[in-house]
Amino acid sequence: MAIRNIRYDGDEILRKVCKPVKEMNERTLTLIDDMFDTMYEANGVGLAAPQVGVLKRIVVIDIGNDEPLCLINPVIVETEGEQTGDEGCLSLPGKIGTVTRPMKVVCKAFNENMEEITITGEGLLARAICHETDHLDGILYKDKTVDGIFDVE
Ligand code: ZN
Repeated sequence: MAIRNIRYDGDEILRKVCKPVKEMNERTLTLIDDMFDTMYEANGVGLAAPQVGVLKRIVVIDIGNDEPLCLINPVIVETEGEQTGDEGCLSLPGKIGTVTRPMKVVCKAFNENMEEITITGEGLLARAICHETDHLDGILYKDKTVDGIFDVE
């Protein structure tokens, strides 16, 4: 188990576009394990590789439904509906903002074995998939808020 340092808003690595993962290797598997450890340690529901300083298209998500997800090279191929709600980010601790996202998304990605997978997410899972895939393109939720970010009460 290894906890990696989380990068915070203002760190320019969070604004870079990440590179696709071409093949799985020990180093990347370790990165994925560490990303889960770091996310759970910080009580997050999702974490993207650039948040631990690695510019690879990898996200991990666990919305507390006992189905932890690792999405490699994720692409959202379909969206449906709309939801507006509060969002936070481990890279902006203590902050919250309201963001409109699709209610449902279909996401194609690869798993840790580099097998192609298709994930359908609704509600919180759809929100998490959108938020985390945005990170891979250097986008933070604060760029998309309805009325800015606020301190958590
Ligand atoms: Zn985030």
